[in-house]
Amino acid sequence: MELIKCLIIGSGPAGFTAAIYASRANLSPVLYEGPQSGGQLITTTVVENFPGYPEGVSGYDMMEDMRAQATRFGADIRNGIITSVDFSSAPYTVTVDGAVQIQAETVIISTGASAKYLGLPDETKYAGRGVSACATCDGFFFRKKTVAVVGGGDTACEEAAYLSTLAAKVYLIVRKNYLRASDIMQKRVLENPKIEVLFGHNAEGLTGENKVQGVKLVKDLGLPTEEHYEREIDGFFLAIGHKPNSDVFKPWIDTDENGYIKTINGTPMTNIPGVFAAGDVADPTYRQAICAAASGCKAAIEAERYLNK
Ligand code: NDP
Repeated sequence: MELIKCLIIGSGPAGFTAAIYASRANLSPVLYEGPQSGGQLITTTVVENFPGYPEGVSGYDMMEDMRAQATRFGADIRNGIITSVDFSSAPYTVTVDGAVQIQAETVIISTGASAKYLGLPDETKYAGRGVSACATCDGFFFRKKTVAVVGGGDTACEEAAYLSTLAAKVYLIVRKNYLRASDIMQKRVLENPKIEVLFGHNAEGLTGENKVQGVKLVKDLGLPTEEHYEREIDGFFLAIGHKPNSDVFKPWIDTDENGYIKTINGTPMTNIPGVFAAGDVADPTYRQAICAAASGCKAAIEAERYLNK
């Protein structure tokens, strides 16, 4: 069975940064890309808040650059999905694509998180053309425009409040007749003159020629007062939660109630020695590319220290 010193799972900013640091530390890392090579950034258009790119950079180009940088220092980047792991004793055994088993002395889990979508066909049709699951990434493109945010939790309220600083008008589409968000966030949204909360509403589709120009809404779904109508919008933001991609590790690795991997005292260490977590899979709070990259760096440094012990 192949034995590797440092296995990195996932190919977002955390995984590639870990690969750059681990290769430069002579750990000969092997990185498995997972189902979406390049991670969540591949689905965004322009990244304007990652330091070092004064004119912005496409998410795709940024990830290609990170990959090239990791390859330059010798990281072995492979296609494949880790389908199961056995962390009962070191070296740890992982299975790739349900078939091949390999062993690793250290493992860096950087599998990211996936934004939840409603499942409307129009979300795919208008992907990158007005549909987004990240207000911090894409809100800037909707300055002085009208946007809608779906969700009634803290994320939705936070994103609506953030977008209200840029957009002319923000609709918050909430399926229930109340917000689930914390009191302070509810207050911030309800008192914001730019935000109109549409309680008891669901989005059922989007309209527009080549980009989003409207949202089809249904009010009081299933009630005698049910009503269908459309509102003009330029941007449609999903904020109905994220799902960390941690399922495969859960038999061994401690996670919180939402599935985020628990790390120890601000380090990337998990409850299993030699197994580290970096990026969004362990970050319910910030979920930014720059934070993921930083934690990937820390994970590689910790892997090196562990191997040197
Ligand atoms: P939540 O699970 O708290 O909220 C999800 C929201 O999306 C709910 O309002 C839910 O509606 C709605 N929703 C889910 N599925 C659908 C659907 N299919 N159609 C329409 N609406 C839907 O997720 P968040 O991402 O908001 O928050 C996750 C956790 O992170 C929470 O614990 C939150 O408190 C925390 N957080 C804290 C922040 C802070 O403290 N600054 C900032 C952001 C998040 P319904 O209520 O009807 O189920």
